[in-house]
Amino acid sequence: MLSGPITEMGPPANASASYLRTSLIRTGGGAAGTNDTMCGIAGYVGGRPAAPLILECLKRLEYRGYDSCGLAVQTSGGLFLRKAVGSIDGFREQVLGLAPAGTVGIGHTRWATHGVVDVRNAHPHVSCDGAIAIVHNGVIENADRLRTELAGQGHRFASDTDSEVVAHLIEEGMRQGQSFDRAFLALQERLLGTYAILAVHRDHDCILATRKGSPLVIGVGNGEYFPASDIPSFLPLTPRVVYLGEDECYSLSAGGMDRLAVQGDLAVRRHDVPTPEAVSLSVESISKGNFEHFMIKEILEQTGTLERLIREAPAAIHDVVPLLKNSKDIVFVGAGTSYHAALFGQYLFAAVARRHVDAYVSSDFEHHVDLLGPDSVVVALSQSGETADTLEAVHLAQDRGAPTIAVTNVELSSIARLSQHVIPLFSGPELAVAATKSYTAQLAILALFGESLASDLPADGTRPLWEARDRLFNLTSEAARRHTREVGRELLGAQQAFLTGRGRHYVTALEAALKLKEVSGLRAEALHGGEMKHGTLALVENGTPAIHFYDQQDFRRTEIAAAELKSRGARIISVGPQPLASSDQHIRVEDAGIATPIVQVIPMQILSYELAKLKSMDPDRPRNLAKSVTVP
Ligand code: GLU
Repeated sequence: MLSGPITEMGPPANASASYLRTSLIRTGGGAAGTNDTMCGIAGYVGGRPAAPLILECLKRLEYRGYDSCGLAVQTSGGLFLRKAVGSIDGFREQVLGLAPAGTVGIGHTRWATHGVVDVRNAHPHVSCDGAIAIVHNGVIENADRLRTELAGQGHRFASDTDSEVVAHLIEEGMRQGQSFDRAFLALQERLLGTYAILAVHRDHDCILATRKGSPLVIGVGNGEYFPASDIPSFLPLTPRVVYLGEDECYSLSAGGMDRLAVQGDLAVRRHDVPTPEAVSLSVESISKGNFEHFMIKEILEQTGTLERLIREAPAAIHDVVPLLKNSKDIVFVGAGTSYHAALFGQYLFAAVARRHVDAYVSSDFEHHVDLLGPDSVVVALSQSGETADTLEAVHLAQDRGAPTIAVTNVELSSIARLSQHVIPLFSGPELAVAATKSYTAQLAILALFGESLASDLPADGTRPLWEARDRLFNLTSEAARRHTREVGRELLGAQQAFLTGRGRHYVTALEAALKLKEVSGLRAEALHGGEMKHGTLALVENGTPAIHFYDQQDFRRTEIAAAELKSRGARIISVGPQPLASSDQHIRVEDAGIATPIVQVIPMQILSYELAKLKSMDPDRPRNLAKSVTVP
């Protein structure tokens, strides 16, 4: 449902009758520590009406998370502009009948960073005269200063966003005599921060595009282009793609694609553009198929993704094992779920590889980086490979000469391209916002690293993973899912839940709590199993669910801790090889050695999914969250 009005920008008083062309600018790279924004950008230029195609592409970007949306299409009378708060489906219903048949346009799904979620702040944003429209993903760090400067030059702002300065900067450049291309190129000299930008002008039949630190790719069809935040957006329309480098600017039109470059005071269009690459992703891999949600599809895929990883990853990690072995320091960095994987790596390296490893939250990395140098190695974990905080950590590591290994699901992502080594996750596209199969793949890769460091026969290192894979069959069966749903039903009225574990099972508690929070909106807190007596017991009330993760080795100590909780009123849910004496409900997960955390998290992914459904929440699109956090 749309919660706000749709606004329309009519043709400005001085609108020319000519068609507008949109230009798409993509700026890349980025200054300092950044987080990813999760919004989506999609444009179209070619021979067909742009609006339906843009809406189709935006729909496939939905998984990234957004709060509002909008589009701008060139018409003979000026730019047609519509925006709304709410879903693409609701927006499409209201817009499709009205949209002109213009063949150049840009669209956006916003994940607000500057300014509340409302129609004014939704993109596209336009210049004062309405001739220029832009969409932007990222954060403009010097927006306040630019606003003041532009306001002094007479520009009026219609939103509270950082992004709007982009439209006015281009307008100001053109007022001062620059061409559209040149004014667009000048953005690079003025903007600090991260951005993927598309721009259109009512009198130019093109989209200008640039990027810096935020993702942007261009789908290439026959005489048509689909600039977008990622490939799934346009994959059913074309499998050919051009990857934009940082700070590159392109002009896209029905006549072709040109690279924009500065020559003196002018902009020139060069034809030396990269040859489009065919992507090997299948359309099936980005569709839900018979599943109700991407999240459950991806949870159930894990037996297959793990099997593929076990077969293919040992060869992929072969080259990095000596680097890890010979380095003085090993550091794992990640954000969110990837940080939990990093923590698992820390426990695992101590137990298996007998190596001390540090695990840092990406946004904290700057506080530790001074201790690193060329004899260190930094392992950067990121599903998307675009996580802004992790990208920044990689930049910081490289500034100190430390080589980086990207462990990512997207081999051509920014983090992968910046790193000396790339280890793929072999998981296929992960489109639900909550990470599931990419998490277990990260754990599996780290387990293989650890095993390879410990043994001269890395092939043996796959044994625990095969064991884990066998367990996954049972845990994802229909019967297991039914049982987990019943456990979920018991959590329905709960105000809070505690999750505990020791050692590497503490990592499972952290990851399971994150899933419950983000997917099913339950206030879930992970506690170290040994820490409860040191404070947390005070929060336990009658009926508070306490979920315990353990293996055979931890069994007795967990029993004691659970009994203490039970005697203070907690309801005990146990996830381990056998029930605890105090268990009210039990989910049986047999040990799989060092790979047990890969197995134990599966029922918790299912539980979060089922609980979200029981609460009528959309598991694929948690409130306020985005898939790929590309803003700082
Ligand atoms: N920073 C911009 C805003 O708040 C863009 C956010 C996004 O990437 O969606 O509007």
